[in-house]
Amino acid sequence: MSTHYEVLGVSKDATGEEIKKAYRKLARKHHPDVNPGEDSAETFKLVTRAYEVLSDSGKRANYDATGNENGNGQAGFGGGGGGGFGDIFEQFFGGGGAQGPASRTQRGRDALITATIDLADAVTGTVYPLEMETAVTCPTCDGTCCRPGTAPVTCTICHGAGQVQRPVRSFLGQMMTVETCAACRGFGTTIPEPCTECNGQGRIRERISKQLRVPAGVASGTRIHLANQGEAGPGGGPNGDLYVELEVRRHKIFERDGVDLHARMSVPMTAAALGADLELETFDGVQVVEVESGAQSGDTVQLAGLGIPRLRGGKRGDIIVHLQVETPNKIDAAQRELLEQLAKLRGEEFAEGRMENSGGMFSRLRGKFGNLGA
Ligand SMILES: [Zn+2]
Ligand SMILES: [Zn+2]
Repeated sequence: MSTHYEVLGVSKDATGEEIKKAYRKLARKHHPDVNPGEDSAETFKLVTRAYEVLSDSGKRANYDATGNENGNGQAGFGGGGGGGFGDIFEQFFGGGGAQGPASRTQRGRDALITATIDLADAVTGTVYPLEMETAVTCPTCDGTCCRPGTAPVTCTICHGAGQVQRPVRSFLGQMMTVETCAACRGFGTTIPEPCTECNGQGRIRERISKQLRVPAGVASGTRIHLANQGEAGPGGGPNGDLYVELEVRRHKIFERDGVDLHARMSVPMTAAALGADLELETFDGVQVVEVESGAQSGDTVQLAGLGIPRLRGGKRGDIIVHLQVETPNKIDAAQRELLEQLAKLRGEEFAEGRMENSGGMFSRLRGKFGNLGA
């Protein structure tokens, strides 16, 4: 009996590429569809078997060492045994492999929707009423796609295979290709009496509402994943997943930076000079902001633990109040007189602008506010 090398007509040290080339040439020549007849079918099997062994480095090494490959060189053939030359041939020349009929039942798609909440909701957590249009399993047919009391019947065209064979011309001559059966669209069955509620889809579109639990600490872009709460699949298939992407509205006072909240607060010049307790409405009620005597624009006061909770638990962030000292710009005669007296007392009546100081304050402000953008 010829060795696999002899069958392919290559030397024992042939490269994979040479083996492939030799196989391609011989397979075209001996393919049963091109060359009907027992001889060519036999030769085609031998050639394909040789290629199957020699194209696989493990099998080839074993064959080189033992002179056979776990059998007598003919094993593995015979109709319908799986594997064998059908697979190899299709892998080599393309062409659809035979599969069973497709299932009408498929998983539904994932869905992504957006929910907009207030910053207060992100601080405390909330329950958000979701309203959405989605696909739900048809209540009339329960996903079977059939009018109640009826059932699918085996397709008379493909006899349940979901596929039909069709002769086509190719470089090998006439060959059979496998195509999806048009009559049953590959399902292998047809539905003589489709459910009228869902038009035989097994699902319908519906507006649904559900309560979404939003934990404290979420931010814009946080996605909440709800497994199996997306669209119902066709044919009674399982639901996809639902993702809800949160959008947190901008707040008129607080700007968020991670778990911290920043606020600006105007402080009258006199309060800044004398010191004062100012009030700030926070998510934990009105809090006192202690402005120390001599406070400057850009100074900060920290309200520890009144920021946003961390999503995975732990300490809350802080509120950071940025003070802005307001110089009065409309003063009457009496106020002017008092200020002039003050200036005199402080020896500032001829004071010149202190560039170094104002410059320092400006850069401090920029430092505080420069990176706050959402
Ligand atoms: Zn239905
Ligand atoms: Zn069919």
